Amino acid sequence: MAQRTFSIVKPDAVRNGHTGAILAEIDKAGFQIVAIRRQTISKEQAQGFYYVHRERGFFDDLTTFMSSGPLVLMVLEKENAIADLRTLMGATNPANAEEGTIRKKYAASIQENAIHGSDGEETAAFEIGYWFAGYELL
Ligand code: GDP
Repeated sequence: MAQRTFSIVKPDAVRNGHTGAILAEIDKAGFQIVAIRRQTISKEQAQGFYYVHRERGFFDDLTTFMSSGPLVLMVLEKENAIADLRTLMGATNPANAEEGTIRKKYAASIQENAIHGSDGEETAAFEIGYWFAGYELL
C-alpha cells in the first residue's frame, strides 16, 4: 500500500541551487509529490519541528540554520516511502553517505546536509501535520 513521508530540501541545498536536481532524484525514484511549498520558516517553527532534539548540543545551531533562508517542504508518496527516502538520502553525515545518495552528491556537512526525511511512521504523521493542513493533502 502506498505510504506517505515528509521531506525538506534544506536551506543549504536551496541556496546552492540544488532544488531542481534533488526534486528530479525524488521523481526518478518513483515518489509522487502530494504537496509542496517553498517558504522561509521562523526559528520558533524550526524549534517546534525539531523538538525531539531539544536537549542535543547542536539544537541551537540546527534551528538557526533551518530558519536561515528558504527551504522546500514536501509530502511524498510511494510504496515503502519512509525507508526508501532514507536510502535515497544517505547517512546524516555526508562523509559517511553511500555513493549516489542525495547527501553524498549535494551535502557539505553533518548539519548542512541538503535534505530531511521522516525516520518512522509516527514521525511522518507528526511532521506532515506540522506543516500541511488536511485539505492540502487530498
Ligand atoms: P537525520 O534523520 O539523518 O536528518 O538525522 P538526525 O535526526 O539525527 O538529526 C537531525 C538533523 O540535525 C540532521 O539532519 C542534521 O541537519 C543535524 N545534525 C545531526 N547530528 C548533528 C551533529 O552532530 N552536529 C550538527 N551540527 N548537526 C547535526
